[in-house]
Amino acid sequence: MYRSHNCGELRVADVNKEVTLAGWVQKSRDKGFMIWVDLRDRYGITQLIFDEVRTDAAVMELAKSLGREFVVQVKGTVIEREAKNDKLPTGEIELLVSELTILNESQLPPFTIEDETDGGEDIRMKYRYLDIRRNPVKNSLLFRHKVTQEVRNYLSNLDFCEVETPYLIKSTPEGARDFVVPSRMNPGQFYALPQSPQTFKQLLMVGGMDKYFQIVKCFRDEDLRADRQPEFTQIDCEMSFIEQEDILNVFEGLTRHLLQKIHNIEIEKFPRMTFDEAMRTYGNDKPDIRFGMKFGELNAVAQHKEFPVFNAAELVVGIAVPGAASYTRKEIDALIDWVKRPQVGASGMVYVKCEANGQYKSSVDKFYDQADLAKWAEVTGANEGDLILVLSGPANKTRAQLSALRMELGNRMGLRKPNEFAPLWVVDFPLLEWDEDSERFHAMHHPFTSPKPEDMHLLDTDPGKVRANAYDLVLNGNEIGGGSIRIHDKDMQALMFKHLGFTPEQAQEQFGFLMNAFQFGAPPHGGLAFGLDRLTAILGGQETIRDFIAFPKNNSGRDVMIDAPATIDNAQLDELSIMLNVKA
Ligand code: ASP
Repeated sequence: MYRSHNCGELRVADVNKEVTLAGWVQKSRDKGFMIWVDLRDRYGITQLIFDEVRTDAAVMELAKSLGREFVVQVKGTVIEREAKNDKLPTGEIELLVSELTILNESQLPPFTIEDETDGGEDIRMKYRYLDIRRNPVKNSLLFRHKVTQEVRNYLSNLDFCEVETPYLIKSTPEGARDFVVPSRMNPGQFYALPQSPQTFKQLLMVGGMDKYFQIVKCFRDEDLRADRQPEFTQIDCEMSFIEQEDILNVFEGLTRHLLQKIHNIEIEKFPRMTFDEAMRTYGNDKPDIRFGMKFGELNAVAQHKEFPVFNAAELVVGIAVPGAASYTRKEIDALIDWVKRPQVGASGMVYVKCEANGQYKSSVDKFYDQADLAKWAEVTGANEGDLILVLSGPANKTRAQLSALRMELGNRMGLRKPNEFAPLWVVDFPLLEWDEDSERFHAMHHPFTSPKPEDMHLLDTDPGKVRANAYDLVLNGNEIGGGSIRIHDKDMQALMFKHLGFTPEQAQEQFGFLMNAFQFGAPPHGGLAFGLDRLTAILGGQETIRDFIAFPKNNSGRDVMIDAPATIDNAQLDELSIMLNVKA
């Protein structure tokens, strides 16, 4: 038996017990006649004590040779500490060691295994197994386990069945780029790794499984952005004989369950907002509603005066920044520079200070009088002491710019509190989205999403206006889940492919299996998927998902620990019938 207890469980009640512990040497202090060692495992730290008087000389000698991260086993007696440490759960006791076995030695670790480490990101990624010994990483993995456990409990209790779907599937041109896997037995042919189990879960509904979920890896070969992983995990769900309302209720329930179990927070009913409303009031389809600064559209009150910039704009829109009328000229100029950065792309910004004496002071005083500016204050909801910031230009771009500014101010002003949770549903997404590059409509969600029946007549005349039975669950400004009610009729699915620019042959070749299945009694169905990595990070009050993944890729999509991706040798390439054409 390697141990009788773990390093986190001994207390004063255990005093005088003979115990065996095993773990890693966190640190040791050698005073010559006395040696203290902090012994660590996943469960905590227990202080060991070796002393000249009470410890055997050979054991004492061996203890002197212990280095950081040595793996040891000790036997001894639990004693009460003289100097208690109230920061440690085991801080009232220590273990007077009688026997010591070194199970394995360790090289000096390349960074300190402590909550605050001296190791930079790169070195910690390379030695991820050492990073995992640190509390912040270890606790994130334990936290993730708790989240997935609660998800499984909740869904299983509602009769959802977890079914595994294949990882080696077929590449399709829709959506993001696929990772592909060459097939040795079928020269020149490739599998693709799934971007999501979408079609399989729909086929499970045709198969009568009724309620499915899966905590599943998905793969997307997208250009990497900060905090995107090429492989990530979804909580993927699908249900039959349901309407949108049923889905929203079940998964609102799941989210409420998580918030309750993990943070003991009760949230009554999640607010709902249409996509249009979200865009108009927050300039964003995943608004962070933990704070205000809602958009006020100023066209009616700011146009048709003498200010040509506003008169020429499709949209004039502003926000009231609470308490910011006191900003200095320099601070305001810095904000103007911020929105003019290429990443945001505004051409300028107008401001109005709502001063304490009820007066308005603006950068466009030449064109607007106090009565005009009072109307701006009314529309943006500005009070005395607030600062109104106004952007103008093409509607979509301007909304995105003002949204970026609003989020930046929310961050700077500390309004995005990590321990506050504000979920909401965004519903009625557009079915299609115009893509400038390919000059055609793309499915905004995916091609299996059903249009709203009442909008169907617009498909031929004004496709961009057709709304879908699609919804996103948003938490604190992040999309944590999204899904839709699906098409379950073959002709309807074929029509959708036609609108997405597929010829009937292409549609048949790529998605024939699904349309065929729809001819054998497909039930009405729908579902959604949560991004587990991000959901866990947000529930854990953090922004970076990488901390919640045991072995993440870095920002260039590399695993620097195992050094992947890597070349393979010629024999392997030959076997796969692959000839490389790599430019140096
Ligand atoms: N498969 C979709 C996605 O990955 C989610 C869904 O529609 O259920 O976004």
